[in-house]
Amino acid sequence: MSILCDFHMHSSFSEDSDTPMEAMVLQSIRLGLQRICFTEHMDMDYPEQYGTFQVDLPSYYEEVKRLQKIHQGRIEILFGIELGMQPHLAEPYSSIIKQYPFDFIIASQHLLGGDDPYQPCFWKGRDEADTYRSYFEELLSNLKQMEDYDTLGHLDYVVRYGPNQNRDYSYEAFAESIDAILTYLIEQGKYLEVNSAGLKYGLSHPNPEESVLRRYLELGGTNITIGADGHRPEHIAYDFPLLEKLLTGLGFTGYTIFRRRQPVFVPFKSRSITV
Ligand SMILES: [Zn+2]
Ligand SMILES: [Zn+2]
Repeated sequence: MSILCDFHMHSSFSEDSDTPMEAMVLQSIRLGLQRICFTEHMDMDYPEQYGTFQVDLPSYYEEVKRLQKIHQGRIEILFGIELGMQPHLAEPYSSIIKQYPFDFIIASQHLLGGDDPYQPCFWKGRDEADTYRSYFEELLSNLKQMEDYDTLGHLDYVVRYGPNQNRDYSYEAFAESIDAILTYLIEQGKYLEVNSAGLKYGLSHPNPEESVLRRYLELGGTNITIGADGHRPEHIAYDFPLLEKLLTGLGFTGYTIFRRRQPVFVPFKSRSITV
């Protein structure tokens, strides 16, 4: 395996994980990873009946610093965050970001119109294709308001949860909406995350799917970040060998990691710890 960095990872600082942060670190070391970035959930104004997806930032930051010290020389641990976009949150997120020395920021869309597609009741009375299209439209409009982020997390996240999941989904069916997002990212010099969690959910594809990644390249996009979005130790660097094969097959030559918000390109097959 040559992808030795996992830049999307959660621990018990996120509402939907019970795993102590150190257990994620120890498993990453066992797997031979060189660097990992925790990206705990910060979803302000999440529908409260489903939980409070707001990381306790002071404790989170302290724990990252503690583990960085303990494991120095064995693995590099970076301090990131996954911000759940909603139209009115760009401003509060921007002030949070200024308060901590984050290495990496993922902008993700987990909600649509303030509701959660992860919940089966969300889909009652909704047309799947219309909902996917609305999701992409809201995502683009959120991105246009959020200036302060590094990468767009799991672009087609919503297709994990539709009644037919990704069976009727393809780049072609949503080409116009997806092109608008990809073009915007490229114009803004932002990154696109390739998230391997979709493989774990049985979708047989990462998010975004290969057809979207192919289109990204066609449009001139080469900037990608990579993460498994693991919430448990067994999901760290999930299917990374397969992911690498897929990405090199499409024509990507490497991926990017971030330190203190600065991008560093890592070519595939690079085994150097000095990047
Ligand atoms: Zn997410
Ligand atoms: Zn995540």
